[in-house]
This record gives sequence, C-alpha cells and structure tokens, in this order.
Amino acid sequence: MNCRHCGSSLEHTFLDLGFAPPSNAYLNASDLKRPELYFPLKIKVCHHCWLVQTEDCASADSLFTAEYAYFSGTSRSWLEHAERYSERMISELELANESFVIEVASNDGYLLKNFVEKDIPCLGIEPTDSTADEAEKIGVPVLREFFGEALGQQLAQEGKRADLIVGNNVYAHVPDINDFTKGLKAVLKPGGTITLEFPHLMRLIENAQFDTIYHEHFSYLSLAVVQRIFDSAGLRISGVEELPTHGGSLRIFGCHDYDFRGKEPSVDELIQRELAFGLYDLDTYLEFQLVADQIKNNLLSFLINQKATQKKVIGYGAAAKGNTLLNYAGVRSDLLPVIFDAAIAKQGKFMPGSHIPVLDPRAIIEAKPDCVLILPWNIAEEVKSQLVQDLPNTQFVTAVPELRRI
Ligand SMILES: [Zn+2]
Repeated sequence: MNCRHCGSSLEHTFLDLGFAPPSNAYLNASDLKRPELYFPLKIKVCHHCWLVQTEDCASADSLFTAEYAYFSGTSRSWLEHAERYSERMISELELANESFVIEVASNDGYLLKNFVEKDIPCLGIEPTDSTADEAEKIGVPVLREFFGEALGQQLAQEGKRADLIVGNNVYAHVPDINDFTKGLKAVLKPGGTITLEFPHLMRLIENAQFDTIYHEHFSYLSLAVVQRIFDSAGLRISGVEELPTHGGSLRIFGCHDYDFRGKEPSVDELIQRELAFGLYDLDTYLEFQLVADQIKNNLLSFLINQKATQKKVIGYGAAAKGNTLLNYAGVRSDLLPVIFDAAIAKQGKFMPGSHIPVLDPRAIIEAKPDCVLILPWNIAEEVKSQLVQDLPNTQFVTAVPELRRI
C-alpha cells in the first residue's frame, strides 16, 4: 500500500489492533445468529510525510464511509461549542447577508442554524438522509453529496464559492484526503477562510488514546502533515488553536496560498512542539504498540480479578472507543455482562464483535454493580456525577490512558 497523501510505500506499522468489525455496526438480536464481518485494523505511518493512516482493506471502503446516524444536535456541550464558534466567525470575518458559508458534513444543521438565524446565506453538504432531513426542517439548505474536488469545482462553476468553509470532525474521516483538500481549494472564494477541526495526533500518542482508532477514522493528523497537504493543494495554514474536544483537537485556519494575510506565530510554535515531542521521529510511532498492549493487559487482569472475587463490573457508554478497546482486549459478556448507554438508538442492540448487550441507563440501579467501567474517558467525570447519587457504594474506573479509579 502507498501513502494516501504522498504516494510513498508504507513500510512501518504504528499499531496493529488485529481484526475488528466496523465500530458502528451495532447488532440486533437476530444478527447474533449470523456471521459477522471483521476487517484488519492496522495503522501505518508514512516515513516520508508522516501521515498516519489506516491500512486499506479489500473492498471495504464503502462500509466504513456509510455514515452512522449520529445526531450532532443531541450533545449540549457540542451545540454550545458550535454557537460560540459561529458568533466569533460572524464577527471576525464580518459575515453578512451577501456572504456565503459552506459546512462540509453539516449533519443535522447543529452549526449552520446559527448562520440561518442571522440571515447569512449558507449551504450544508451532507450525504446522510436522516440527518439532512433534520437540518432542512430547521431551515438549513442541504446538498446531499459526498464532498471532493469534483463537487468543489461544480459549486464554483455555479457561482457558489464560500467566504467561510467549515469542516468539523470530517477531515480525519475522509478516505481521499488529497481530493477533499482540492475540493476546499476549488470552492473557496479569494480572500475566504477555511476552518477544520480534527483530533490531534500528538494528544493521541501522549495520552495513549489508541481506542480512538477505528476503520472509519482514516487519518491521524499532526499540524505539520496538514500544512503539507494544504501546500500541495494551493492552500496554506494561517493560524491554529488547540481545543479540548475529543481528547485534544486542533482547529486550523486556512486560506489560498496567494492570500495577503500573514501566518500567526502559533503555527510554527506548534510545529516546533510536535518536533520536540518526536512526531517526526519513527521511534515515537514504533513504541506505541507496547503502550496499547499494556493498557489492554491491565484491563483484562482487572476484569478477571473482579470476576474471581465475585465483584460485578458493568460498562457505561457504547461508543466507538469502547468497541475498539473491548475488541482488541477480547472482552466478552462473561467479563462485562452489560453496557448502559443513554442513546435510544443503541438500546436493545449488541456491541459489534463483543456482542455485549446495550441497555437503558435507567436499569443501572437494579444491576447493582460493584464497579462501573466508563468507556468514553473524555466524559468520565460527567458520567460519574450523573450516577454517583444512585450508586454511592460503586467504584468508577476508566481504562485509558491507564486503569484508574475516578
Ligand atoms: Zn506520505
């Protein structure tokens, strides 16, 4: 396999998580009587441009790009994040009713509604019907397509180039990152601004977040590699901010390569920190497997110990993270009999691979757990604070970046 950005041959493995089903392929009871599809989950690092990427699996790309109906608008903190961002962009870029805003992967309109409310023309690009329907109900126009160079050029020809292009948590999920970036170039107005948010590879390695790796997440990005991809598409990065979302993300600001605006010092400062951290040193990548294996072994020892001493451990949070961890560790319902999750769409289903049932959290008190393993570590404190009154004598633990009581 060759690097999806620079075409070099990929010789180095960053992490091999064995075989796993797609992380969002939740199962119904009837599916448990059928065979389940597993794909290799191996991550390579390009020694030439440092793009960290999933290894291609034969004829599986369509499965991994099939969008799971996750509704952005269901998370209050994410809605607030989107609102603050929108207000700031409207003010800083002086967006008004002659401006045009495009959001790629606009989901249920959680972000663009803030522009609609201010009568700023906008367009969401979103291939998933269920979420696009919701966006249209609140007045957000949606084009139901996958984004890439061809669509960017088509929109430009129709006179729909944008003053602001937004991409939140889409850049790391596109299979062809070069084509996507060329699409951004094509549809950006002269003088326009691109902002993209994606998880930062440095935080993934620093905090051992190997459970954020899954097939649908094609690229793991440093600022330096994104700068390189932008350069190759005739774009450049003018600024960067570090955000706490998803365990540590970057928000980058991009513009045409010929744009008059300068580069903020934050860009070179962060690239220097990435260099000092070792992101351009192969050993940093080759050591990561040991870190992931240690976490897996500690989790298994803990669960086996708890079972041996007749302690009941249950899981909380049936997210993609949990699937990666449980499948890699080989945890099944004998060690973790049930996972509770507030998302109604997941309740009554079974986790892919592990087949652990997912139930409504209202049943958690009856389960009388001695210990709750919180799988989405990024919201562990929030989950504990919701449960602790009903479960005063229960321990709460997370497994990543290390097994610990919270
Ligand atoms: Zn490369």
